[in-house]
Amino acid sequence: MTEHKNVVVAVRCRPLNAREEKRGVQRLVTMHGQQAQLIQPGEGTGKRGERRQRTYTFDYAYPPVSDSGEAGQQNVFNDIGQAVLGHALSGYHCCVFAYGQTGSGKSYTMMGNSSSSSDAGLIPRISKGLFACIEEEEEREEGVSYHVEVSYLEIYNERVRDLLNPISASSSINSNGNNNNMGLRVREHPSLGPYVEDLTKAAVSTHSEMLTHMVQGNRARTVAATQMNAASSRSHAVFTAIVTRRKQTEAQVTERVSRISLVDLAGSERAGATMATGARLREGARINQSLAALGKVISALADQERRPPAPSSSSQASSVPFVPYRDSVLTWLLKDSLGGNSRTFMIATVSPLDYGETLSTLRYASRAR
Ligand code: ADP
Repeated sequence: MTEHKNVVVAVRCRPLNAREEKRGVQRLVTMHGQQAQLIQPGEGTGKRGERRQRTYTFDYAYPPVSDSGEAGQQNVFNDIGQAVLGHALSGYHCCVFAYGQTGSGKSYTMMGNSSSSSDAGLIPRISKGLFACIEEEEEREEGVSYHVEVSYLEIYNERVRDLLNPISASSSINSNGNNNNMGLRVREHPSLGPYVEDLTKAAVSTHSEMLTHMVQGNRARTVAATQMNAASSRSHAVFTAIVTRRKQTEAQVTERVSRISLVDLAGSERAGATMATGARLREGARINQSLAALGKVISALADQERRPPAPSSSSQASSVPFVPYRDSVLTWLLKDSLGGNSRTFMIATVSPLDYGETLSTLRYASRAR
């Protein structure tokens, strides 16, 4: 059903943790089929006395799997990871975004639990699947060879840092703990589009090499955040695999490049107006602005998809809605991987017990669809 959609939106609810179970807190989120239902807590009742409940429909809705995370992680990979692999190996760019409040399961969905491989998230599973497909095709198809590179960057306060080059990650912090005027430059190539100058691209030839870079980058992200006295949940982390397929025949060599960008977004929670001041308030405003920009871009792309094709006689360009890529560093950098023939996946993660934040995440995700 989602086979031909360029924008696919899923919602995933994390299970209650042991502490919450013990407190006997009320679960506010239930999932049925493609629907997520949010129940208003406490006394909230409708006109006829029933509990107020809101329902949102998505391409996929993943209920919490409480006994073990394994089934949940596998389901997400089957629906989304496999689609990403299929599309990327056909030569198209793909983006996956994990969106939600801090603590709702974004990192768990993208990376998994580092302590347990059965809880591996999308990045390790996509990596494993990618190399399995590559090996199989290289063996089957004469003259075909693949080259894979990875990059891992972080966008903090609209500045870009290289997570595979920790020197530049830590050097972007001055003695005051600020990151004034630092970060890598974002430039635009006349034909290849936006790119980050001097960003490390590491060649990888196995799944475990790819995983090593993910782990190294995650560590650099945590270290940099600690040095700046910030939480890593305040930055967007963009892990990208650049897959080049080369086909050599007697007559010619052809190359096809596709990018898979896997993005763990900054926490979507709004900084409480009374708690945040100064730098924290500005930081929060930048996060909100860039998440809003991403939401606008994705919903503009979903809108394009919903429009009936323009009659061949009319000007196609005039009917295409404007996509505001330039409104944030994140959307600008991913411009070529969003829209066109690219595919975008959003996984909105929610907590089962936070009504306000869950409502805002469900609204954001349903606008993107
Ligand atoms: P975020 O990245 O959104 O801040 P985390 O991924 O760190 O949130 O998740 C918070 C906690 O909840 C972690 O301990 C994580 O292992 C756990 N968790 C999140 N989602 C799930 C899930 N679907 N199944 C099991 N545990 C989960």
